[in-house]
Amino acid sequence: MSTEALKTVQSDHRVAHFIDGKHVADSGRAQDVFNPATGRVVRQVALASRATVETAIAAAEAAFPAWRDTPPAKRARIMFRFKELLEQHADEIVALVTEEHGKVLHDALGELQRGIEVVEYACGAPEFLKGEHSKNVGPAIDSWSEFQPLGVVAGITPFNFPAMVPMWMYPMAIVCGNTFVLKPSERDPSAPLRIAELFREAGLPDGVFNVVNGDKEAVDTLLTDPRVQAISFVGSTPVAEYIYSTGTAHGKRVQALGGAKNHAIVMPDADLDNAVSALMGAAYGSCGERCMAISVAVAVGEETGDALVARLKQELAGLKVGNGCDNSNNMGPLVTAPHRDKVRGYIDLGVEEGAELVVDGRGLRVDGHEDGFFLGGTLFDRVTPDMKIYNDEIFGPVLCVVRANSMQEAMDLIDGHEYGNGTCIFTRDGEAARYFTDNIKVGMVGVNVPLPVPVAYHSFGGWKRSLFGDLYAYGPDSVRFYTRRKTITQRWPAGGVREQARYTFPSNT
Ligand code: NAD
Repeated sequence: MSTEALKTVQSDHRVAHFIDGKHVADSGRAQDVFNPATGRVVRQVALASRATVETAIAAAEAAFPAWRDTPPAKRARIMFRFKELLEQHADEIVALVTEEHGKVLHDALGELQRGIEVVEYACGAPEFLKGEHSKNVGPAIDSWSEFQPLGVVAGITPFNFPAMVPMWMYPMAIVCGNTFVLKPSERDPSAPLRIAELFREAGLPDGVFNVVNGDKEAVDTLLTDPRVQAISFVGSTPVAEYIYSTGTAHGKRVQALGGAKNHAIVMPDADLDNAVSALMGAAYGSCGERCMAISVAVAVGEETGDALVARLKQELAGLKVGNGCDNSNNMGPLVTAPHRDKVRGYIDLGVEEGAELVVDGRGLRVDGHEDGFFLGGTLFDRVTPDMKIYNDEIFGPVLCVVRANSMQEAMDLIDGHEYGNGTCIFTRDGEAARYFTDNIKVGMVGVNVPLPVPVAYHSFGGWKRSLFGDLYAYGPDSVRFYTRRKTITQRWPAGGVREQARYTFPSNT
C-alpha cells in the first residue's frame, strides 16, 4: 500500500491499522471478529500485507531520532497524561475487551488496571534511565554507563489480554526512547487501536507508536526487517520458539514468553476454605484463558484430595457463567468456536484417558446465548502425569486434580513439567513454604497467592519452556531489554601533562 493510499479511516465494520498517528484503511485480506457471547460477527479485522507493515516500520524509523532526543522527563509527562486518559476512558476500553474477548467486565477492568500500573512505572523514566557513574576509576579518569534506546522495536501479543499484555511492552519501550510497532491478536483487535488514539491524544508524536493488525505475514515482516532492533512476544510456546529462533537469526534482541501449566500444591495443613476460593478464581476466572491460570491442583494426601474435590465440586455448582457484559457473572465464554471445540476435545480425551470427570462443563446452556462459545467449569480428579490433559496447556475452564503422597512428590511433578510459568503452595507451614520458594523450578511463585503476577515494579517471566530469552517483561528487566548500555571512560589530565606511552594493559596496580 503506498503512503498516498493510506487514508484516515476507522470503520466500525473493519478495523485496520494505526500508523504515523492516523487510522489507515486496508482493503486487502481480512478476517471476522466475533462477539464470543453471542457467536455473531461484530466486525472484520484487516490482515496487513508486508508492504503495510513496512509502512509502519518506516514511520517508526522516521520518528526515532526526535523521540530519542526528547528528554526523559518530557517523555514521562506524556505517560502521566496517557495514564489519566486511560482512566477516563476505562469503561469504553473495557467494553471493547469484553465484546471481542468475552471476559466479564470486572475482569477486563482488572486487566486494564494492571496495564495502567506499567504506565505508572514508566513515569519514573528520569530515575531509571539516569545511568551509573564512577569517579576516579583511574588517575583523572571518570567512567559512566548510560542506557541508550535501540531504535524501532516491535511487540506481538496474544488474544487473552488485549489491553494489558501490549501494555507490558510499549509504555516501557517508548519511555526508554524507542519507537514501536505493535501487532496485536487478530481475534480481539479493537482495544489496542482505541488505546493508540488515546496515547496520541496524550501528546505522543506521530510515528512513535504504530499498530498493525495481521497474522503470520505481518509477524514475519517484523521478524525479518533489518530496521526492527528487538521483538517482544507473548503467546503460545510453539510460536514463541519460532519467534525466538527467527528473530535472533535475523540479529534481533528477542524475549518470547510462552505457554504454561501452572500447578498449585494443597498441603494437608492448608486453610481449605481459602485454598478453594483461591483455586476457583485462578482456575475458572477468564474462562481459564490466562497464562497464570491454575490448571493443576496437586493434593498432598488422600484426605486432602477427597476434601478438596468435594469442596470444588460444591463451588462449581454455583459458578455463574454467562455474557461478560453482566458483571454478576463469574465467567464468560471462550474466545472463539474453534477454541471452545479444542477445549471440549480435551474433556473428551480426559475421559478416554481414564481421569475421573467430577464436573462436566460440556452440557452447559446459557439461555438467550445458544450460539455463544460457552463451556461450563470442568473438574477432573485422579489425573496422572502420563495423560495428555496433564501435559498439554488446555487454556480453558478445566481444572485437573492430581494426588501426591508428599510435598516432595508434588514438587517433583512441577519440576518435571516442561512449563515453568507460575505456581503456588497453600499451607500454614512457613518452613514448607520457604523450602518451596527456594527450590521450585518456576519463575513466579505464590504462597497462599494463587495468581502471583508480579506488580509493575518487578518483572514478569517464567522458566523452562515458558520463556525464550534472558530478560522478563516490564519492570526493571524491561529497562535493560529496551536499552543498550554504553560505557564511556573519560580522562582530563590536569595541567596538560603529556604522558609516556605505556605498553602494559591499563590497571590500577
Ligand atoms: P498464539 O501463539 O496463537 O498467538 C500469539 C500471537 O502470535 C498473535 O499475535 C498471533 O497473530 C501470532 N501468531 C500466531 N501464530 C503464528 C505463526 N504461526 N507465526 C507467526 N505469528 C503467529 O497465542 P494466543 O492463542 O493468542 O494466546 C494464548 C497463548 O498465549 C497461551 O499459550 C498462553 O499461555 C500464552 N500467554 C502467555 C503469557 C505469558 O506471559 N507467558 C501471557 C499471555 C498468554
